Amino acid sequence: MNKSCRTLLSLLLTLLILGACQHKPPKESQGLRIVTSFYPIYAMTKEVSGDLNDVRMIQSGQGIHEFEPSVADVRAIYDADVFIYHSHTLESWAGRLDPNLEQSDVIVLEASKGMSLKRVPGLEDIPVTEGIDEATLYDPHTWVDPILVAEEVRLIAEQLTNIDPDHAATYRKNADKLAKEAEELANLFEQRFAKTKAKTFVTQHTAFAYLANRFGLEQLGIASVTAQEPSPRQLAEIKEFIDTYHVTTIFVERGASDKMAKALAASSKVTLKILEPLEADPQNNLSYLENLRANLTILAEDLETRKE
Ligand SMILES: [Zn+2]
Repeated sequence: MNKSCRTLLSLLLTLLILGACQHKPPKESQGLRIVTSFYPIYAMTKEVSGDLNDVRMIQSGQGIHEFEPSVADVRAIYDADVFIYHSHTLESWAGRLDPNLEQSDVIVLEASKGMSLKRVPGLEDIPVTEGIDEATLYDPHTWVDPILVAEEVRLIAEQLTNIDPDHAATYRKNADKLAKEAEELANLFEQRFAKTKAKTFVTQHTAFAYLANRFGLEQLGIASVTAQEPSPRQLAEIKEFIDTYHVTTIFVERGASDKMAKALAASSKVTLKILEPLEADPQNNLSYLENLRANLTILAEDLETRKE
């Protein structure tokens, strides 16, 4: 074979190899490609997976309640091996994806399957009938109660074990570690909250009923506190609420209005403090339980400084 023939052959081989590579792109990760719906499910799944899988979330910047996935989000779900969401009452759009997903290879897991979600206080007796949106009746916020976090990570581990039994030991070991830490956190704060005289707290986003229930506290919701500057009527409603319940602190999520805080500070002695429902990615380097602990500390410190 002369030199020009060898060059031509080597060029053809290169083209063939390149062509083959284009048809079968290398998989980015060795493990499962897992897409999750939002931060708490992402954080728990990532800790249960350890280094085994490539875990991502489609929603990171805002609350989950009003969220609808974009075309790119739906594509990311179709391209994954596994999609994990919290519950059919919270991400009701996930249920609507199912008929299409059945035609693709993606496995859909409901992380809270097996947990019993409570009704929103006051809506306990309303039957689920046609025309009633089930999502409005059930309180989804299990992820702010450490004991329910422990339960949920174990459920996630079991579901991952079913589809990836080779790594069962790792999933269970990681979930057990996190669950034990969550139970220790609950124990610590149970002792702390037991000592506070004040038991009631006021929140703008009523995400803390499970947490309140766990620690013998009571959550009061105040819907008039929004991201906008309050109208004179809203301000009057808030003031009446503050006087009725002797409120000194209103807990808000990040991004609540400065104008609201100033309006309240000017007209009463109430302060606004941040208490995160942990629905958006906190964008820090803390673990999920460290973020939860920071939240619990803010609430405990507030109750500890109050006399009733
Ligand atoms: Zn919420």
